Formats: sequence, C-alpha cells, structure tokens
Amino acid sequence: MVRIANLITNKRLLDKVHDIRRELFALATTDKLTGCHNRHSLMEFSDKFISQALRHKYPVSMLVIDLDHFKAINDNHGHAVGDIVLELTGKLLNDSFREGDLVSRYGGEEFVVLMTHCNGEDARLKAESLRLAIEDLKPNGLSITTSIGVSSMEVGVERDFEAMFHAGDEGVYKAKENGRNQVVYVGLD
Ligand code: GH3
Ligand code: MG
Ligand code: MG
Repeated sequence: MVRIANLITNKRLLDKVHDIRRELFALATTDKLTGCHNRHSLMEFSDKFISQALRHKYPVSMLVIDLDHFKAINDNHGHAVGDIVLELTGKLLNDSFREGDLVSRYGGEEFVVLMTHCNGEDARLKAESLRLAIEDLKPNGLSITTSIGVSSMEVGVERDFEAMFHAGDEGVYKAKENGRNQVVYVGLD
C-alpha cells in the first residue's frame, strides 16, 4: 500500500513539474501584451522554420507588419489606449494564421509572421486580406492602418532569415514611402 501511495505521489509530482515547465516555456516565448511570440522566440525558431522548408522542399513566406502613424495614437489618446490597440491587433494576428505559422511581435508596433507552405502569390493575397481586416478592426473605436512588407523563399531558392527579413523590411519602407496602408512585395536579392 505504501509503495502504491509513493508511486501515485511521484506521478503527481512529475505531472506538476511538466505543467510548470510548460508554463515557463509559454512565459519565456510569449509577448505578454499581445499573446504573440516575442522577438527572442522568433529568433530562436526562425532558423529551424526555414531549414525545414529547404530540406522538405516547400515555400515559406514572411510578412513584416508595421502600424501606420502609431505614435499619433499614443500622443492623441494616451499610452494605455495605444496598448489596447496593440493587444487587439496581436489577437487578430494570432487568430488569422495557420497552426504551423509563427506570429511574433518583433518590436513596439511591428510584427513579423513566418508562413509555412506559402508561396509569394498566396502571401500577397493573405497580406492584402489582413490589411483589410486591420482596417475593419477599429480597436477601441479607432481607425488604424498598416504597411505590410512581403518576402518569400520559393522552392529551389536557398536563403536565410536575415535575407527574408531584409526584403520584408524593405517592403515596409516602400509601403510607407508610397503613402502607407498598403502591401509591398520585395523579391530576395
Ligand atoms: P509610421 O507610420 O512611419 O510607422 O509611424 P509610427 O508613428 O508608427 O512610427 P514610429 O516608429 O515613429 O513610432 C512607433 C511608436 O510606437 C513610438 C512608440 O511610442 C510606440 N510604441 C512602441 N512600443 C509601444 C508599446 O508597447 N505600447 C504603446 N502604447 N506604444 C508603443
Ligand atoms: Mg509604425
Ligand atoms: Mg515601426
């Protein structure tokens, strides 16, 4: 009887350790405000994300998403409202992508999404529908828009995270330059 009781106690303790480990992992990889992966987590998993695509020969795409004139939202409505806008935008992003995709908050009001099994054309369409969804979101009743840069690694092309981010970021820059609230695709060098 004592042995059985000990086994049960040990099993419960082990389950607890597993639960705590899961919670710690979630805490370490998640951005608290938005529920998206944090930048550290993106950097941790992006190499594997891309190397698996190369090994198994499927395309991956990246969206770099930057909120337009976000500073004005903070200035006009306060930082707390700015935070609500970020939180709801993050929730929308988390709900908008497939299970295997990696949605992350890269910095302040900038998000990076890695999309698995997704070529350039599909990524552009997805970015465009996301742009419209964000326009419709009206977090806290406010109108917000985004500039989205898209880059893709098609099958047969071998690049890394840095190259994809460089192209995606250039897309954001061009979108801002062209008047914001738009999607710009940039091919890899
Ligand atoms: P642009 O259209 O060119 O992207 O303009 P912008 O105002 O969005 O860009 P800028 O990079 O000048 O400003 C980003 C602002 O995001 C500045 C900063 O105050 C705000 N910000 C960054 N992190 C947070 C945050 O966690 N919460 C809130 N409320 N604001 C944040
Ligand atoms: Mg911005
Ligand atoms: Mg920015």
